[in-house]
Amino acid sequence: MQTLEKLSDRLFYLPPFQKTDRPILAAIVGDNQTLLIDAGNSSNHAKHFKEQLASYHVTGDILALTHWHWDHVFGLREMDMPSIANIMTYDKLKELQELSWEDKELDKRVEAGIEISFCADAIKLELGSMREVIIPDPTIIFEKRIKLNIGGVTCIIEHVGGDHSPDSNLIYIPEEKTLFLGDCLYANMYAEKWHYTIEKMYNLLGKIKDYDAEIYFLSHHPAPLTKDEFASFASLLQTSAELTNKHKGKIEAITEEMSSRFGRNLTEEDLEIITYFVNGYA
Ligand SMILES: [Zn+2]
Repeated sequence: MQTLEKLSDRLFYLPPFQKTDRPILAAIVGDNQTLLIDAGNSSNHAKHFKEQLASYHVTGDILALTHWHWDHVFGLREMDMPSIANIMTYDKLKELQELSWEDKELDKRVEAGIEISFCADAIKLELGSMREVIIPDPTIIFEKRIKLNIGGVTCIIEHVGGDHSPDSNLIYIPEEKTLFLGDCLYANMYAEKWHYTIEKMYNLLGKIKDYDAEIYFLSHHPAPLTKDEFASFASLLQTSAELTNKHKGKIEAITEEMSSRFGRNLTEEDLEIITYFVNGYA
């Protein structure tokens, strides 16, 4: 079981759990309200988060969704509070409400290419035999950007999109210099080959640069990144995009130039990122 981490009086997070694809959940404590970030991948996940918060006498009042993927929304009913979503997330949730999560139906959707086995496997593992998933309608629907004042703290939620999911939001807390990126910098997994596209990445990195942050949360990274750690991750993405374009998706030329630019051998993570760009190069 994951244990809640306290970064400041205003900022708490529950680390992710890779085995069943639980993402990071977070709480921003204002003087008047507490904003929770993401609902978790099951009632159990949501319940565990609420219990951990309660041990610090923190209760959530309102919840923001980073995007529609199951692992971020299945705990919404258990959270039992008003929620905020952009219009694209809202529309996707309306679709999810109609689906069954039983093995047979999940397998059918994987077969049809609508669901991916990576998610279906994690859903089976996380939910066990309790497959009744009720996803309530989000309460507050916005289009591009919404700003909350929860008392001494501001939360800016901006719809930024990206390859991973077109409905992705980022959530910025200026007073804490903290930026929640959800999954927006991960690859598009709902495709035959996991991939990034050059233009979407440039676009996204450009938007992220506008936010002055010291702490960066990526929902499936084990811990938040410092400014320097994030800068090197962003530079890896930026350079991979640039070189994929320059070498027209030829992986050998890309890896060779990347290695010489970085002045070191490439790591497994470097190669994975390059592969996703090559997969998305058309
Ligand atoms: Zn996702």
